[in-house]
Amino acid sequence: MVRLHALYTVEAVDFDVQNEDKETMKELQDLIDQMTLEEKASLCSGQDFWHLKGVPHHEIPSIKIADGPHGLRVQLGDPTEVGLAESNPATCFPTASALAATWNRELVYQVGQALAEECKEQGVSVILGPGANIKRSPLCGRNFEYFSEDPFLSGEIAKSHISGVQSLGVGTSLKHYAVNNQEFRRMTINAVVDERALREIYLAGFEIAIKGAQPWTVMGAYNQVNGTYVCEHPDLLAKILQEEWGYQGLVFSDWGATNDRVEGLKAGLTVEMPGPSPENDARIITAVQEGHLEESILNQAVEKVLNLILKAQEALAVGHQYDRETHHVLARQAACEGAVLLKNQGQILPLPKDTQVALIGEMARTPRYQGAGSSRINPSRLDSIYTEISKIASKEKISFVPGYQLKDPEVDLELIEDALSAARDADVVVICAGLPENFEVEGLDRDHLALPENQNLLIKALAEEHDQVVVVLSNGAPVEMPWVDHVQGILEGYLGGQAGGGAIVDILYGKANPSGKLPETFPIRLEDTPCHDYFPGGPRTVEYRESLLVGYRFYDTVDKEVLFPFGHGLSYTSFSYSDLVLSASRLDELEKLKVSLTVKNTGKRAGKEVVQLYVHPTSPAAFRPVKELKAFTKVALEAGEQKEISFELDRRAFAHFNTGLKDWLVETGEYQVMVGSSSRDIRSQGIIWVDSSRSDAPIPERDRLPTYLDFPADGVSREDFELLIGEPLPGNLSEKKGEYTLNTPIGDLRGSLTGRWLAGYLNQQVEKMTGDLSQSPNAIMIRSIIGGLPLRGLAMFAGQRINPEMMDGLLTMVNGRFLLGLARVLLARRKARQATTQVKKELS
Ligand code: BGC
Repeated sequence: MVRLHALYTVEAVDFDVQNEDKETMKELQDLIDQMTLEEKASLCSGQDFWHLKGVPHHEIPSIKIADGPHGLRVQLGDPTEVGLAESNPATCFPTASALAATWNRELVYQVGQALAEECKEQGVSVILGPGANIKRSPLCGRNFEYFSEDPFLSGEIAKSHISGVQSLGVGTSLKHYAVNNQEFRRMTINAVVDERALREIYLAGFEIAIKGAQPWTVMGAYNQVNGTYVCEHPDLLAKILQEEWGYQGLVFSDWGATNDRVEGLKAGLTVEMPGPSPENDARIITAVQEGHLEESILNQAVEKVLNLILKAQEALAVGHQYDRETHHVLARQAACEGAVLLKNQGQILPLPKDTQVALIGEMARTPRYQGAGSSRINPSRLDSIYTEISKIASKEKISFVPGYQLKDPEVDLELIEDALSAARDADVVVICAGLPENFEVEGLDRDHLALPENQNLLIKALAEEHDQVVVVLSNGAPVEMPWVDHVQGILEGYLGGQAGGGAIVDILYGKANPSGKLPETFPIRLEDTPCHDYFPGGPRTVEYRESLLVGYRFYDTVDKEVLFPFGHGLSYTSFSYSDLVLSASRLDELEKLKVSLTVKNTGKRAGKEVVQLYVHPTSPAAFRPVKELKAFTKVALEAGEQKEISFELDRRAFAHFNTGLKDWLVETGEYQVMVGSSSRDIRSQGIIWVDSSRSDAPIPERDRLPTYLDFPADGVSREDFELLIGEPLPGNLSEKKGEYTLNTPIGDLRGSLTGRWLAGYLNQQVEKMTGDLSQSPNAIMIRSIIGGLPLRGLAMFAGQRINPEMMDGLLTMVNGRFLLGLARVLLARRKARQATTQVKKELS
């Protein structure tokens, strides 16, 4: 191993090159100088699915990376194949939506540290995650992996997660940068979004996490943003991420997200994943040799790879161990704080221990605790509500019946009858419901917000029969609740991870006091959601016509009724807010505002309150949502205890992104500072006047689009949206035969017989691979991904056995020149085989 140290200190934020590191930098430079062009280019793609290449003859080791983010997924089996391989057991913590619902930075930091310990035990240097994409629609299939509809909360929780992991010398990969808010056509879709929404909603969370925690790596998303693939987007990568935010780490492509490798490298994409990708490495070499790519750009990328490898040395050392029980206990605590008590009519909860409970619902016995896809963890242990409840209440006080089947959404009247008869003898009915695992899958969005019919009917039937009904939900994103007014208690458990069952029982019986708050709005019905008419779009573009009005920014601005508002969550105790003090009544934008208040626990038991601070400009010239979260804290209070808490707001809390200045602008004027227990439960407010140095700056969208200031009830017209984005919308029709490109999704090759055959063949392979499990979430995910997979992505699925010449042949075939294309494919295959034989000969 070379005697180099990491150039940057491991601690979050401190990314400055230290003086003593100058020597190290020099060594690193010398090393790069000694490397051949081929060696350098080769570092720009991974070694396989789960390793970065090293440089063996300079004694630079390869490093291991693995999926996360709510646990560690070290996949078993051949790392050169995509596959559905199982993974090593690991602690499955609650998924991101539950972690965000804790609103607890310290707890998420601890979860991050626990993840790092598990990484170290398995020699993993970088764990992929967290995901900070905004929940634009509750339908996105990966919402369970994302934190919030609000960029401030997303950014703050991501920052804690990253800082926790990296504090122990293991890297993270903040993903999926950026504007990856849906699974439909995720590998090709062009997200058309106006500049303010991009900056204020979709990038702001990433910005907070990058500036505050400097993740070792960032993962570039699959999709295009305003017509350019993210992994070759000069604005998103070079300009914003690196220049503006000062990001110095490495950028991976999401797995299979690389389109044009050389353009990617120029824009700031460091490593293509998965690898190896000899063809793209060769393109880099040619580009340098022919003068299309400056070698210094390649050198910078190589420096980043080497730096990462060197920084990761600690995780490479074997022999780290962690205590599984401690991590399980932490997972339970996180699940407990991430559960949100939505309704508690007549204080039905907590239950006294001797309550006769009818525990109904298959999910009590078969927990739904995480989502499907690349984040699926093989849990080291799994607690269910059914097993945990008997540890608190005596067996004879609990009667369990399944009530519905998980695999089949059909209503089974016999199961409902059993449930009704169990309910008749009970004091309280606890129904465990939620989304079956096939509803929340990477690669696939939901198309409705309903629970399966068999569950909704069961809940309605039981609510008619009994007047003491509690519904416990397991789902990673909002669901509709047509029975909301007919049940007395609702506990949203989210996807609570392996210890979630115990956490729910702790809350049901009052061993723990609920303190989670919704990190997203629960709408009454899908049609109420702001992007309803424009999600998921397609086939080629998705228009973000709702612009800034995402989540509560929309519901509160247009004053729409919701099922449960952003930030809502009840407790078994109560809190009062008083003595709100603003440190000034008039402020220069460069000064900081201190906001303090007293929060008192006015109930009879200890509890935690999440205090939220929202800002509202009273009469802005620019369009502003009526409320935006700018600070929060979670405070623990004993019964009767009170504490003074304070927040500090800087200019960004008042600013919007001005598209003319291309910068954040504070308008001179009056701002309301609101403090509350949810976005719709504001307890106290004050007024501040802020003076800005640039108050004469024009507000471009105001002249261009006066109606943008009022979100029309019937949605935003195409014309208005074009005025907003400042240009005509790009085409959105699928390509036709003769126009297909390597970016055409396989599902769109319908005009070609070869294309149809290819889609059919791939699906058959999935069926073969998955056999009896062809209805499993993983199989569903792969089938869906294949439909949206661009032709260029085939190589990844084929373990790189398809080279660019073969792809060219295939493209010729699907575009109608079948024989010519076939001849090219066969010729390319023969050449590839000859080359392999030659290599083998040389090796032997
Ligand atoms: C997902 C990433 C994941 C990667 C590796 C991709 O398909 O989008 O989130 O980390 O695969 O499994």
